[in-house]
Amino acid sequence: MTNSLPTPDPATGRHVIVTGASRGIGAALAAHFVALGDRVVAWSRSGDAPAGCTRALTVDVADAVQVGDAVRATTAELGPVEVMVMNAGITRDGLTLRMGDEQWRDVLATDLDGAFYCARAALTSMVRARRGSLIFIGSVSPFLGVAGQANYAAAKAGLVGLARSLAREVASRSITVNVVAPGFIDTDMTAALGEAGTDLKALVPLGRAGTATEVADAVGFLASNHARYITGAVIAVDGGLAMGL
Ligand code: NDP
Repeated sequence: MTNSLPTPDPATGRHVIVTGASRGIGAALAAHFVALGDRVVAWSRSGDAPAGCTRALTVDVADAVQVGDAVRATTAELGPVEVMVMNAGITRDGLTLRMGDEQWRDVLATDLDGAFYCARAALTSMVRARRGSLIFIGSVSPFLGVAGQANYAAAKAGLVGLARSLAREVASRSITVNVVAPGFIDTDMTAALGEAGTDLKALVPLGRAGTATEVADAVGFLASNHARYITGAVIAVDGGLAMGL
């Protein structure tokens, strides 16, 4: 865990944690909250973060100890976590018949276990403060079924069960818990799909890939005071790809 950015002004903005904030959707999420004046703590394995973040921490979300230590460190300094976005995710695509145990476990460890560790760690201070927003970045994959993504779709489906159960557990504390499910968004992750990505993009009713900023707009809304009556929801940002989920 490293601190590489200047000390924040504790008088402004919410304490927001974004995981997987070094690039792609996570970097757009962090930039969105920075632009609102929030105190953004950006996590990733590389420790990179967009300009303006209050802290950039090297945290592997698949490691429960690192997650707990990181949340405790910034909570001591910045106060209760008010918004936590579980965005870090990986893919290790392959057909199920040929999928190795490690390929399965790596994806579940980051995309599902990691999200659980983060939500649990952030909740301690949210429950005490009686406010907060937890937002999981899911995917349309489990709703569509995608050949070669059994591990990823299983992990992302798990997030829906996790979010909805959690939403019931903490509703009495005014904490909302939601899932944003992106479709095909232009990032490093989809660039790696090559030709399969081009085929998938052709199925999008709006006729184009989405941008990371468009995902950040939906997440920003769920974290805002305009969405205090929304919890347990799954909101697709997918150009209509999984219409109706
Ligand atoms: P990228 O591959 O571009 O970025 C992934 C981010 O996660 C990086 O910042 C990476 O940083 C971080 N990361 C990966 N593993 C870990 C880990 N164990 N601990 C901490 N950070 C980690 O992905 P996207 O931006 O495309 O995806 C972001 C999220 O959106 C993911 O959950 C993904 O499943 C989801 N999503 C993306 C879609 C798309 O079309 N792009 C569609 C649907 C869902 P570093 O390598 O430095 O750790």
